[in-house]
Amino acid sequence: MEKAEIGLIGLGTMGSNLALNIAEKGHRIAVFNRTVSRADAFKAEAGALADRIVPCHSLAELAEAIRPPRPVIIMVVAGKPVDEQIAALRDVLSADDIVIDAGNANFHDTVRRFKELEGSGLTFIGMGVSGGEEGARHGPSIMVGGTEESWRRVEGVLTAISAKFKGEPCAAWLGPDGAGHFVKTIHNGIEYADMQMIAEIYGMLRDGLGMGPKQIAPVFAGWNEGRLASYLIEITAKVLAADDPQTGRPVVDIILDRAGQKGTGKWSVIEAQQLGIPATAIEAAVAARVLSSMKDERLAAEKVYGAGGGRISEPREALLKDLELALLAGKIAAYAQGFAVMAGASKEFSWNLPLPTIARIWRAGCIIRSQMLDQMAEAFGKGGAAANLLMAPAFVEMMKAAHPSLRRIVALAAEAGLPVPALSSALAYFDAYRQGRGTSNLIQAQRDFFGAHGFERIDAPGAHHGPWGGGQ
Ligand code: NDP
Repeated sequence: MEKAEIGLIGLGTMGSNLALNIAEKGHRIAVFNRTVSRADAFKAEAGALADRIVPCHSLAELAEAIRPPRPVIIMVVAGKPVDEQIAALRDVLSADDIVIDAGNANFHDTVRRFKELEGSGLTFIGMGVSGGEEGARHGPSIMVGGTEESWRRVEGVLTAISAKFKGEPCAAWLGPDGAGHFVKTIHNGIEYADMQMIAEIYGMLRDGLGMGPKQIAPVFAGWNEGRLASYLIEITAKVLAADDPQTGRPVVDIILDRAGQKGTGKWSVIEAQQLGIPATAIEAAVAARVLSSMKDERLAAEKVYGAGGGRISEPREALLKDLELALLAGKIAAYAQGFAVMAGASKEFSWNLPLPTIARIWRAGCIIRSQMLDQMAEAFGKGGAAANLLMAPAFVEMMKAAHPSLRRIVALAAEAGLPVPALSSALAYFDAYRQGRGTSNLIQAQRDFFGAHGFERIDAPGAHHGPWGGGQ
């Protein structure tokens, strides 16, 4: 029988859709699943693509079905199951075969797995995939980390199945070992900030202006025609317009306000902190999800303090314009932070991450895809690219035009008692970032006062102590 081009383990939501996508692009694919019967059922459900699907009932059968050197995608629940699959694959694969973890791995695990396989003859690829179920089926954004040689072996299949932005594939090799999974983690961190800011704007429209979902939906739909055009704004408009079939009420009104999370947002914040790169909007978004989960405590606190959320009396049209620009400014700050974290990691781990390529492969297929990423790709691609997106000329212009609106919105929200943690963190970051003389001179004085930590003077080199007599 003709050998398969590639193998895949894990026929869950993502794995089955990726496998169909691969088959649709003309590649024969061998598949295996822990619940073994799923492989045959998957082929049976694959319709016209069934001819290109080779169901396997053991890993040995899977290895036998693939043309060497064999690339095998693992798309199972992240963590221990991935280590178990790698261990089992070691028994059936041979030299030059490539194990690809396409789940949402912590990049530290990817670096470890890469090292563990070194010297075994097998190579490892850590591959971030974004786009959810739909993306996996019809074109995700694919972020690859591993050796360049192993990327070359799978480049054809991965670029074929990836999303395309004006014909350009949204799949790329980004660097060694954990580079791909790190970039996917930061993608998700930015996604958290993007979603949180949209939710904060929704909160201002709902509670500050008293608008219902059906009135808010066209506002987002309108914004999706402008500079905010993006997948998340588009689906927000659709979500707000949808009704619950059981009750006939708007779906958003019957959904409990408790957000879930699986860990990538938290990881992006931990890595930002480890690298010493401020990512305040992402941090605020992760914290907001945690606070959202504390429903009972929030209800108890509302009884004690009363709910915030007073009405905003500004004229609606002017406020809507400000809200749109506030979201734009907040978004730019959040992306600036995310890219700064990637630049920091690139230096720390000697990855040489190509920031323009990252912006390019996020333009289609992934959850944060947006028109603005095309401008970011261009901004980072220019020679002598700015260290921070906030310093790239095109974004300087946008930020200058938009930050006064962000300021007005954050001030109005604060006065009305409406929580806007991500937007206000973005504003505080912007204000601190552009403040040539900050207030940390006082912090240095305090540190020297209680800990004799010393400080630098503005008028002389070296370390100095204050007139308070050293450590107290
Ligand atoms: P699903 O829950 O739909 O599928 C999980 C798959 O993992 C199943 O095939 C399951 O097999 C298998 N599995 C679970 N435990 C084990 C184990 N111990 N050993 C072997 N196989 C196991 O998950 P998804 O497809 O949604 O997610 C897969 C990965 O992709 C995760 O890392 C996820 O974070 C990531 N991801 C998910 C996205 C999404 O939108 N859902 C987007 C991007 C990445 P069985 O049929 O036997 O239960």
